[in-house]
Amino acid sequence: MWIHLIDFDSTIPNLALMKISAHHQALGDKVTLSCGREVGFGNTEPDKIYASIIYKKNVYMAEGLHYSYPNSEIDIGGSGYDLEKVLPPEIENLKPDYDLYPDNDISIGFSSRGCLRKCHFCVVPQKEGRYRRTQHPSEWYNPDFKKIMFLDNNILADKEWFIESTNWCTKNNISMHFQSGFDIRLMDKDIAQLIIKLDLYKTICFAWDHIEDEKIIREKIQILRDVGFTDNMLHERVQFYVYVDSDEEFDSGVYRCRELKKLHCNAYVMFNIDNEATLRINDLREWANWRQFFWGCDIEEHLQKKNHIESLAYEDERRLVHQMGEIDDWV
Ligand code: SF4
Repeated sequence: MWIHLIDFDSTIPNLALMKISAHHQALGDKVTLSCGREVGFGNTEPDKIYASIIYKKNVYMAEGLHYSYPNSEIDIGGSGYDLEKVLPPEIENLKPDYDLYPDNDISIGFSSRGCLRKCHFCVVPQKEGRYRRTQHPSEWYNPDFKKIMFLDNNILADKEWFIESTNWCTKNNISMHFQSGFDIRLMDKDIAQLIIKLDLYKTICFAWDHIEDEKIIREKIQILRDVGFTDNMLHERVQFYVYVDSDEEFDSGVYRCRELKKLHCNAYVMFNIDNEATLRINDLREWANWRQFFWGCDIEEHLQKKNHIESLAYEDERRLVHQMGEIDDWV
């Protein structure tokens, strides 16, 4: 059988497609992959197409598949398309086919699924349910790779499992990254002492999503300091996602970013992509998410500079239009 996989919009190698590939390779099928919107097979059609949509806004990309490939069996999944759909256990528990993305050199997987919280803006409680251990990293890592990316949604929900998984990576000299960050509310002194020693290949990410968590955020940053994080280390290595749901949360977003800056931590504003970003939300994202802006000035100053540059550009444009008018008068 010929199986074609379509990765419409993943920003990292698509784990589900890598597992589907492993499953079909084991059956002796031919597996091909295309990334992005361009899908074309000439006059032939695969026997089966699996397509993945990660972001809801991209659902339209998959709409024409049934019409374009009427002879292929089509199976569409991904959290942007269907939150309820999961891989069957015999595929979910397979080691990913890392050859599907030949440029990738990072092992990717979940050591746990689900979460113990129910944040109103998050799809994880609906999609994955309660927190539970799933696969030890030894079951899904690629021994040829020196880096590993954990996709766990709330890896600190089970302290013992987190220590076990990270110790295993350390023993095997594998550099780690935790894609969803750490739930700082669950971080105690033991975990902070472990985190400071981990070989991490990217920034350490936490989140300050709810304004009412200010007291606990401050206490936990103090724990990071107690185990040895200096101002410089916080500045270099620590970032907080700052969730902003709509324009109504603009002031709260500015406040959280400013307070994090005073605490020597980076901020990264995450906006609800299902809501329309207003101009001032985009300004906030631009200021907070670009480190040279964030550390170089306050958001007010950033906006003043930006308005000044825009007015200069406007004046230049007017001057140019005026000159063009004069040229037109001559000819
Ligand atoms: S803690 Fe994180 S993963 Fe859990 S529900 Fe909240 S946002 Fe989602």
